Amino acid sequence: MGGKLVFGVTVGVAVAACVVATVVVGRRVKSRSKWKRVVGVLEELEATCDTPVRRLRQVVDAMAVEMHAGLASEGGSKLKMLLTYVDNLPNGSEKGTFYALDLGGTNFRVLRVHLGGQRSLTLKHDVERQPIPQNLMTGTREGLFDFIASSLKEFVEKTDDPDELAPRRKELGFTFSFPVKQTSASSGVLIKWTKGFSIEDMVGRDAAESLQQAIDKIGLDMRVSVLINDTVGTLAVGHYQDPDTVAAVIIGTGTNACYVERTDAIIKCQGLCTTSGSMVINMEWGNFWSSHLPRTTYDIDLDADSPNPSDQGFEKMISGMYLGDIVRRVILRISQESDVFGPASTRLSMPFKLRTPMMAAMHEDSSLELTEVARIFEDILEITDIPLKVRKLVVKICDIVTRRAARLAAAGIVGILKKIGRDGTSGIAGGRSRADVKLRRTVVAIEGGLYTSYTIFREYLHEALVEILGEDIAPHVILKPTEDGSGIGAALLAASYSSYDTDANLL
Ligand code: ADP
Ligand code: MG
Repeated sequence: MGGKLVFGVTVGVAVAACVVATVVVGRRVKSRSKWKRVVGVLEELEATCDTPVRRLRQVVDAMAVEMHAGLASEGGSKLKMLLTYVDNLPNGSEKGTFYALDLGGTNFRVLRVHLGGQRSLTLKHDVERQPIPQNLMTGTREGLFDFIASSLKEFVEKTDDPDELAPRRKELGFTFSFPVKQTSASSGVLIKWTKGFSIEDMVGRDAAESLQQAIDKIGLDMRVSVLINDTVGTLAVGHYQDPDTVAAVIIGTGTNACYVERTDAIIKCQGLCTTSGSMVINMEWGNFWSSHLPRTTYDIDLDADSPNPSDQGFEKMISGMYLGDIVRRVILRISQESDVFGPASTRLSMPFKLRTPMMAAMHEDSSLELTEVARIFEDILEITDIPLKVRKLVVKICDIVTRRAARLAAAGIVGILKKIGRDGTSGIAGGRSRADVKLRRTVVAIEGGLYTSYTIFREYLHEALVEILGEDIAPHVILKPTEDGSGIGAALLAASYSSYDTDANLL
């Protein structure tokens, strides 16, 4: 009896063990096939984001072609190629004290820059930053500009030198980073508001004139001498510090570029725009598009969900506003196809929940256990306990998305160089590389939070630039980080366009 019982128990245990084993094996098979699916999503992402140098060169060519088209006629390309009327960049000889006002987001800044007439690589300046009250962002033109002018007056009174002999009319450069149709270097009308502003009676009005009226009204003796966009400010700072600077690129929340173009190549202005040989063109390159851009389903969905579908296609693949969201979309898809991220997280479905600085922090996590990835998943997405191999997968996704962005930005830069004959080939119709082309030192000023703060992005961009240009040409092209072009650059341009200084430096 006892023996029988023992036998029975043994059989029972054996059967149970058998059942457990079947379940475990079944789960393993299932999880293996799920993991295979996860790997499949990753491989597909990697393949569609691929940017071999051959493809980058197609993007370079497309950029140069679109630049031509945008210069040929108004609306000739998705690249607006806006005229800035800036034909006079600071060269280091400027003297005096100049002011700048930088309005382009939720804050505005007032700056005062003192120039000693000798090029200085570090530009000393006073600066004051102020938030714009929410009600003024959607109020009236007068309300906004009166508020700005009174802050400006306060700043001037605070920083003014009371001992100055014979004070003269002060000059100010105005950086207004909204789409503007310029009519001269110091005037231009607002085409439309972006970034949460909506002041109806301002659309179609001149931004510089609006500011000037408010300044006059408050009794400040100051002239708005230039109206620029932030890329032009970056170019001005770059050119002030290094006269070989021919273009400027910003890669921050958004992305844009400007460069110095020969007047005779600007067909759409029919020789009427400027008497000097060149003019700075604001490309608005965020809106560039080409069928050669490697587009994924995630890009298509992001675009469709955005408030500006079919707009800013290049920007949506490159800039800080979007990279984190592309990564979030890939993770979401994987979480829908498998359970590697555990139970569904509502946070993961929220657009822009994963910001690019967080993505960068995960990408640059150098700890063995990828603890930063785990922390960000917990804090931001409320996803806990993801295994190491899944954390590695997340890092890989960040890498693919950033690498594509950086390499496309590099191709864009080379596109500009190609357009102006500084890429070592002989222009649009030319071959890849010609030994007889004289290589001139060429500097591109670059700034923006994505470029300056995301090291891997920056490294990928530099690597691609060398790949596209080739080892012989690349050393002649210098990317120069430039600080605070949108502020200081406007003050420098106010100096170049000063009514007191006739020592002009026409391009
Ligand atoms: P803006 O473009 O708004 O004028 P910035 O040039 O300072 O301002 O860029 C800010 C943007 O740069 C942020 O919106 C973000 O997308 C990106 N960024 C900032 N810091 C980092 C970081 N550490 N890693 C990656 N991206 C960053
Ligand atoms: Mg900026």
